[in-house]
Amino acid sequence: MIEEMKALEKYAEEYNIPIIEKSSLRFIQKYIKENNVKTILEIGSAIGYSAINMALVDEGISITTIEKDDYRYLEALKNIKTFHLEDRITLLLADALNIDIDGKFDLIFIDAAKGQYKNYFEKYCNKLNRNGTIISDNISFHGLVESKEKIEKKNLRKLVDKIKDYIEFIKGHDGFITKFYKVGDGLSVSTRKNE
Ligand code: MG
Repeated sequence: MIEEMKALEKYAEEYNIPIIEKSSLRFIQKYIKENNVKTILEIGSAIGYSAINMALVDEGISITTIEKDDYRYLEALKNIKTFHLEDRITLLLADALNIDIDGKFDLIFIDAAKGQYKNYFEKYCNKLNRNGTIISDNISFHGLVESKEKIEKKNLRKLVDKIKDYIEFIKGHDGFITKFYKVGDGLSVSTRKNE
């Protein structure tokens, strides 16, 4: 399936679909392996690239992934079938903030609208299993979080402020211990404290 994976990467590049950076993907795959993660909820499927790569870590893994864009949803659906993963990846067309998901997960991966990270976290953090973890992608937002003064567009500055708010929010959250990693576009790993 190496050719199919390369085709996915090429497609993302051609059509400007933001897919996870390779180093971040490797980090998450290692995390999944080392922590024996079996159930994953992903917010923001895009074309299914990260879900497919997470599912390929181990045959025992099952994933629920949510995408709100029709077009990306259809692409993801097609790609999941190409990799014969439709039994293990459940793809939902919805806004993650407007649906209810059954079950609990070992890992929640947030990689959707950057301005909504805090809302995703708050909505889904009670969907974690014991020792469950929330990983968030693009925490440094192309380096802009560290150099906000360089940003001229007001909307972009607002978005960066939201990511900064999210960082402060997870740092200060009583129920989680969060570590930040300078991998790819920046990852945060928030693990639930067990009382
Ligand atoms: Mg991302």
